[in-house]
Amino acid sequence: MQKHAHTEPSDAKERRSKPAIISYGVNQLPRYDRAFYDAVLAELVPVHSVTVPPRDAKTFEVPAGHVVRISSVDGPQVGDLNLWNMHNLEERFFSGKTRQLHATHVSTGDRLWSNMPYLRPLATIVCDTLDWYGFDEDGGGIHDVIGTRCDPYTNHVLNGVDYHFCCHSNLSRALADHLNLKPQDVEHHIHDVLNVFMCTGFTRDTQQYFMKASPVRPGDYLELFAETDLLGALSACPGGDCGSSHSDDSTPCYPLQVDVYRSNASVMQEWSEGAVNGYSRTHGR
Ligand SMILES: [Zn+2]
Repeated sequence: MQKHAHTEPSDAKERRSKPAIISYGVNQLPRYDRAFYDAVLAELVPVHSVTVPPRDAKTFEVPAGHVVRISSVDGPQVGDLNLWNMHNLEERFFSGKTRQLHATHVSTGDRLWSNMPYLRPLATIVCDTLDWYGFDEDGGGIHDVIGTRCDPYTNHVLNGVDYHFCCHSNLSRALADHLNLKPQDVEHHIHDVLNVFMCTGFTRDTQQYFMKASPVRPGDYLELFAETDLLGALSACPGGDCGSSHSDDSTPCYPLQVDVYRSNASVMQEWSEGAVNGYSRTHGR
């Protein structure tokens, strides 16, 4: 891309010196009630488990008020996560708004928001064993909402080959199996993901999306509290730890474990799921 075709104006330095303002008043968001979620986590009872094979995806249901744990098992592996309202696939995870409201990478206390016109927390991150990582010297962080799933269309453009086990295809097959439809008929439901365990950022000089080997190790996990009834789909990315490549069969890949729990905590008796967004939807007319 051609850059800097125009000379700087004389007041360029002054224009660049304006203060950076956090765009959204995140203090107005629903408060993260750590005591509540810690009480929930203290009394978990297993409900069901799913193992996601390497270079494949599986769906799983998480009823409202339940907790889902996504774990690294046999080796470092990143996962591409989609979330829907279990009863309405039109309501789904909105990575862009989640990024605007929280950050490029999410961790404990952050919400995973749904798309408009629903726009509400679908889930809350309640535990993240990689929260120690923070941001590294390259600007890389964990669990990003800046990239999207690897997909066969981009791969076709860049490499001129058809590869069928990108996360987009894996998620499409998994949702197709869940709905008893063909992948082609459900792939429009596949959306921008939460890149679980993935280490990514933007290069300092050119602001290009980069990935580096994930620090995840077997035993690490990310836990989400379902704020409403959820259908999830998780793909074990063909990139493995995404330290070298993706969209091919050349990288070691490992399964991911999905465990769903209910909580016997007494605080759950007071809890109720959140309503969809209260905006009137009249848009000025
Ligand atoms: Zn992928």
